[in-house]
Amino acid sequence: MSKFLKAEYKELSPYVPGEQPKDRAYVKLNTNESPFPPSPFALKLLRESAEGNNLYPDPEYTAIRNVAAEKLGVGKENVLFTNGSDEALSFAYAAYCAGKTAVFADITYGFYEVFADFYGAKKKIIPLKKDFTLCVNDYKNAGGTVFIANPNAPTGLLLTTEEIETVLKGNPDNVVVVDEAYIDFGGQSAVPLIKKYDNLIVVRTFSKSRSLAGIRLGMAIADEKLIKDLKLVKYSTNPYNVSGAGVYAGIGALLDEEYFLFTCAKIIANREKMKKELARQGFSVTDSAANFVFAKRDGISGEKLYLALKEKGVLVRYFNKRGIEDYVRITVGNDEEVNALLTATGEIVKEKL
Ligand code: PMP
Repeated sequence: MSKFLKAEYKELSPYVPGEQPKDRAYVKLNTNESPFPPSPFALKLLRESAEGNNLYPDPEYTAIRNVAAEKLGVGKENVLFTNGSDEALSFAYAAYCAGKTAVFADITYGFYEVFADFYGAKKKIIPLKKDFTLCVNDYKNAGGTVFIANPNAPTGLLLTTEEIETVLKGNPDNVVVVDEAYIDFGGQSAVPLIKKYDNLIVVRTFSKSRSLAGIRLGMAIADEKLIKDLKLVKYSTNPYNVSGAGVYAGIGALLDEEYFLFTCAKIIANREKMKKELARQGFSVTDSAANFVFAKRDGISGEKLYLALKEKGVLVRYFNKRGIEDYVRITVGNDEEVNALLTATGEIVKEKL
């Protein structure tokens, strides 16, 4: 760190992305990407977009906003496109939390705490129950902007729309951000609620169910006034926040409904197979509604399990954090990857017994 860095930044602990080791070929189940390539139609549009790259993209991203708005059943004034959903979250922190309070669960997406620290927000951290469920009544008059991942990460547990509505009703004076990165794998989206609640921002990503993590595309969906707040941040920091190529790929992914439904269904089926087989091998597995499972086995710490799997060529994510140190988070892969994982866990269980 240089002596020039702003004093407030010196103590920051930035987000640590999942490892991408190059020492050997791994079955990579550690960053919750889709195991499937982008849709063929997304790739076709992506290729066709190449020639237009001498020009800046339309900073309003009108073409993709129209497509997304129609799909979501909202107006195009209710949609803002961002560079991955992390940027949508970042805009919300900048708009509502800097110098104020951010409210989130003790076990949730790690970036919420990183953003809070970066933007100088106070943190109100609300513990989940022992079984990792979130009690929505704990969020009544939360005293700051609420961030809820639904399904939650890394537990995969889902809240119902009624529960989300309880949080919205209990916070008429606070913005509530519902991060739906994994909603397409089994949950009911809160997007229709934006018509009823002017304090709701739904954040979505193209990195998971739309197979476009490398493209970096996300969106915020909300009442027009909230979208204008986020746009203020965008136009004050990075007006062309999404690449032209990203827009084309995103349009292709949105329009290729058949591919989207097929890949989601496959991931859901593989997730259920992983849950069942891991349980059969003696693991405790949460009832994840996401594209990952969260599992532990008595007698093996999360770190040991992570290391043993790495040794066998399977990468998973382990969190050195109180309350979840016994667990690993395993992304749902394709058939081959799931079989490799289950073979490896089976061997580890036998070796330890
Ligand atoms: N929210 C949650 C809950 C996530 O797990 C992730 C993925 N790390 C993101 C948001 C950000 O995803 P992206 O920036 O790729 O859209």
